Amino acid sequence: MLSMADIRSHVFKIQRYSLHDGPGIRTTLFFQGCPLACAWCHNPESQAMGLGASARETVPAIEALVETLVREIEKDLIFYDDSNGGVTFSGGEPLSCPELLFPLLDACRERQIHTCLDTSGFAPFKILKPAATKADLVLFDIKILAPLDHQAATGKPVGLVLENLKQLSRLGVDLKLRFPLVPTMTDTRENITGIIEFLTRETLYRDIHILPFHNTGAGKYERLNMKNKATHIRPPTKEQVEAVRQRFEASGFKTKIGG
Ligand code: SF4
Repeated sequence: MLSMADIRSHVFKIQRYSLHDGPGIRTTLFFQGCPLACAWCHNPESQAMGLGASARETVPAIEALVETLVREIEKDLIFYDDSNGGVTFSGGEPLSCPELLFPLLDACRERQIHTCLDTSGFAPFKILKPAATKADLVLFDIKILAPLDHQAATGKPVGLVLENLKQLSRLGVDLKLRFPLVPTMTDTRENITGIIEFLTRETLYRDIHILPFHNTGAGKYERLNMKNKATHIRPPTKEQVEAVRQRFEASGFKTKIGG
C-alpha cells in the first residue's frame, strides 16, 4: 500500500479541470523533480528530485503508483470526452522520472485517453524520444538561445534542448512550443530574433504559446526558504506581450497567449 508521501514524492500535485495545459479540459499531473532552476519558476517546490525513491526501486511499488494515478485520471473521463481533453504530464520535469512516465503514457493509450507531455526538453534523447512518441502531443519550452544567458537563467546549458528539438522535428512529432515571456530575461530583441531564426531554420514547428511571467510563486520561495531570483522582475504589460506576439506572427508563427 502506497503512502501519500510515496505519491507526493513523485507527483506533487494533481490539478483537475485545467484549461491551459493542452487541448480541452485536462487533468495535469505535476511530477516532482526538475534538472533546471529557472529564475522565473513559479513552482519552486517542484525542483527538488523526489525524496522517497522507494516506489522507483521495486516493480510492485511502481505498479501500485501507476494504478493509483490511473484511478485518479479516470475520475475525469467524462470531462475529457466532452471537451476533447485528456491528461497532461507536467512538472517539475516528467522526463526526470521515466519509470513512472512511460507506464502512465502506456496506460492512457490503452484507455484511449489523450496525453500531453509538457517538458523543458532537458533530458537525454533516449528518454525524450520514447516519451514524445508515446504522447499524443508535446508541449516544449524554448526559453533563451544564447548559451551563457541560458546557463545563467536556468542553471543548465541550452545545447541539449536545441538538439532535442531538432531531432523531434525530424521525427515529425506533434509539438507546440512554449515561450516564457520574462521581461529583461527572455524578451530581448536578440533572443526573440535568435529563437525565430533557429526554429525557422532547424524545425518544422510554427505554433508557439507565449506565457507571460507572473509573480504568483513569490510567496512559495519565502515559505521554502529558497532564493527568489526574480524579485526585480515585473509581469509584462499588455503592450509588451502584444509586441512579442506580433514579432512571432510577422515571421509566420501561429501564436496563443497563455497555455
Ligand atoms: S523547467 Fe519549469 S519546473 Fe523546471 S525550473 Fe524551469 S520553470 Fe521550474
